[in-house]
Amino acid sequence: MTRFNLPESSLPTAWFNVLPRMATPMDPPLHPGTQQPVGPDDLAPLFPMALIEQEMSPTPWIDIPGEVLDILKLWRPTPLVRAERLEKELGTPARIYFKDESVSPAGSHKPNSAVPQAFYNKQEGITRLATETGAGQWGSSLSFATAQFGLECKVYMVRASYEQKPYRKVMMGLWGADVVPSPVDDPSSPGSLGAAISDAVRDTVSREDTHYALGSVLNHVCLHQTIIGLEAKEQLAAAGEVRPDVVLASCGGGSNFAGIAFPFMEDAAVRLVAVEPASCPTLTEGEFRYDFGDVAGMTPLMPMFTLGHDFMPPSIHAGGLRYHGDSPIVSQLHRDGRVEALAYPQGKVFEAAMQFAKAEGKIPAPETAHAIRGAIDEALAAKETGEEKVILFNYSGHGHLDLAAYDDYLNGRLIDA
Ligand SMILES: *Cc1c(COP(=O)(O)O)cnc(C)c1O
Repeated sequence: MTRFNLPESSLPTAWFNVLPRMATPMDPPLHPGTQQPVGPDDLAPLFPMALIEQEMSPTPWIDIPGEVLDILKLWRPTPLVRAERLEKELGTPARIYFKDESVSPAGSHKPNSAVPQAFYNKQEGITRLATETGAGQWGSSLSFATAQFGLECKVYMVRASYEQKPYRKVMMGLWGADVVPSPVDDPSSPGSLGAAISDAVRDTVSREDTHYALGSVLNHVCLHQTIIGLEAKEQLAAAGEVRPDVVLASCGGGSNFAGIAFPFMEDAAVRLVAVEPASCPTLTEGEFRYDFGDVAGMTPLMPMFTLGHDFMPPSIHAGGLRYHGDSPIVSQLHRDGRVEALAYPQGKVFEAAMQFAKAEGKIPAPETAHAIRGAIDEALAAKETGEEKVILFNYSGHGHLDLAAYDDYLNGRLIDA
């Protein structure tokens, strides 16, 4: 068998909360002004109380609201696919599986958190959400989710992408969002995710009807994504596998990695590997310390691996991985030695994307191709040792709106940073 599908009735009904299962308890986020631990009241201007509770919840399992499940059912459960053709092409004894999150309306894993975030805000009487987006993956996901609940959506899009990547902007427009380039006050700057977060937070605190939504990094976003790993666990069992030996995912802010990896965390025999770009090497070369989530220093200080909140990443094609920091939970697990990290330069990543596309047919997002590179290297290592390793990776999104980047690759215009 190649595809392992679950019936709609097997959709998980609770998220897996990793917080009460951490070996080292998490340090609290700090208020940007007072440097004291932030309480729920400090966060209330930005987020609905339900999400603030999830951010700090000690409950091992958190129920997924029925209204959220009804929307997730538009594309979930997602398929688990055995990449047998890639295995043959590599000549590896390893069995490679990928969880296909590219089948969502926006084409990535991100709607898994956009939908519950829109739901909890609507429930609290909020009528408008403000957010940032890099290449447009998160902005389009939140635009889709707010459309489902009849909320307004304002998206601050990193200017370089706004100017060079029109199609995600069109998707956001179709779902009814208002998209503007960021930074709003400096038209000469190409922008960054950190600067766009500052714009969105500034918008939020200036209006009563508006809350803020973040597409990665925060604990509640990681929580919502665990539906990926929970499904994958069931599907691997259906495929006759006891456990994966290694789970890989690309890592920007960390939520897609968290989503597939956290549900396997308690099994010490499963290696968990986060893959990042060499040009934005947060886990592999960053420093673990308190830092802001944005350029302007308006967000709480979070304990995490960071390259510095004013770090301007080079404009590589994997826009979704260009963030200076990382999820505090993923950071702590990396510090504890539970999570491994790898960084690859762009050329090696695109080479893997093309090898995958030729073998399996699917064209991955450049972000996703980082995980594919890692999975291929694991499979090649298994070939050396003759090990029948089980490899699982998250196919976080398709690359149908990233063809300009592939055009650059095919025509030798890619900068191999
Ligand atoms: C955003 C994105 C990522 C990175 O996700 P994080 O949760 O920020 O680590 C990976 N792949 C795709 C396709 C994305 O859109």
